Amino acid sequence: AHLDRVAEIDGKVHAFLHVAAESALAQARAIDERRAKGERLGPLAGVPIAHKDVFTTSDMPTTAGSKILQGWRPPYDATVTRRLREAGLVILGKTNLDEFAMGSSTENSAFGPTRNPWDLTRVPGGSSGGSSAAVAAYAAPLSTGTDTGGSIRQPAAVTGIVGMKPTYGGSSRYGLIAFASSLDTPGPFARNVLDAALLHEAFSGHDPMDSTSIDAPVPGVVEAAKRADIAGLRVGVVREFDSEGFQAGVVARFHETVELLESLGAKVVELSCPSFTTALPAYYLIAPSECSSNLARFDAMRYGLRVGDDGERSAEEVMAMTRAAGFGPEVKRRIMLGTYALSSGYYDAYYGQAQKVRTLIARDFEAAFHQVDVLISPTTPTTAFPIGERVDDPMAMYLADLCTIPANLAGNAAISIPCGLADEDGLPVGLQIMAPVLGDDRCYRVGAALET
Ligand code: GLN
Repeated sequence: AHLDRVAEIDGKVHAFLHVAAESALAQARAIDERRAKGERLGPLAGVPIAHKDVFTTSDMPTTAGSKILQGWRPPYDATVTRRLREAGLVILGKTNLDEFAMGSSTENSAFGPTRNPWDLTRVPGGSSGGSSAAVAAYAAPLSTGTDTGGSIRQPAAVTGIVGMKPTYGGSSRYGLIAFASSLDTPGPFARNVLDAALLHEAFSGHDPMDSTSIDAPVPGVVEAAKRADIAGLRVGVVREFDSEGFQAGVVARFHETVELLESLGAKVVELSCPSFTTALPAYYLIAPSECSSNLARFDAMRYGLRVGDDGERSAEEVMAMTRAAGFGPEVKRRIMLGTYALSSGYYDAYYGQAQKVRTLIARDFEAAFHQVDVLISPTTPTTAFPIGERVDDPMAMYLADLCTIPANLAGNAAISIPCGLADEDGLPVGLQIMAPVLGDDRCYRVGAALET
């Protein structure tokens, strides 16, 4: 049924870069047979899933949305991919994304944009826009994403679904094509909180193949999603992300949600996190710096595309021609910005300063979590914007991540859940719930309570 749905809508939505219909059907049949033999299978066995095309898959292409990886076949599965398979999830195919996960709209994909199923003239968010659109369009009940600055929560918010960024290190980066290694975090998309928790649990947990993976038990996210009771829970509203510059319909739904939390027995207080306002500029130094280092591996020798290799040209010339042809404008912009910020004369002024800001943001979270159990804000300042509106204005594009970036810089857990539609455009609004490091279960507990 899901493959039929993909065939029906994907010409319009373009959520997928690759559909693996035959292998998906074969896997589904294999699960059926195991079940028929009486084998006890996990809760997600046989459930279809759409997989972001930034995770390596040994049986499908992996492009990261870039021409530079076109034609490349990874020799191994990412840890997340492997754990999906072990849980019996059926991978329907690979989803579209902004090139190397750099963007907020999926318009930076080298293979064309994805459209928002709610309104095909609007973006589905990004960078995991193919994954959010697939779930919102009922082409898959679940999908995977990665969140470096908001790329799970922001697309979830603007397509009206649930998207979770686990604690940094709680889900493995092994086989995830790197953008900014100190920030990149795999996480789940689903249409409800419990489904997201089940997927979160299925692929999370310690991985010796990732040196930043946390060696601790996965927080009890499924239990928390089932508990769904928040009487007495202390909720902090982040003053810095309340109202100013936000779309009226987003603010209205957010304030209603605050009232709903109070009616469910939560104690809501307003809190200031003063450094959060500096998170966006700090992120746009740190993320490009790490990107400029990570993307150096695309040297025309090791992976995918090679341009101009006529036996006469030098390796440097081939490298330059390959990168010129293989990287899109946003990726080039970030490599240049990052290289500049890391250069010896400017390192302290830019990268060093941004790292200090990062520490201040982590301290704001720590101080806040002495007073409250979770922090809340709108996930994004606006609903889904029209395709094309922000492509030539990187600053406007970057603002989509205003509220999501603090949790990335500090490594905290944070979820986006739907909280109604904006009056002025009828488009989905997201609520962000932020929790301490390894407090992922709190995100699910509050999210599930609001859902019921
Ligand atoms: N939109 C942000 C960026 O372009 C975040 C992307 C992400 O989380 N992968 O960097």
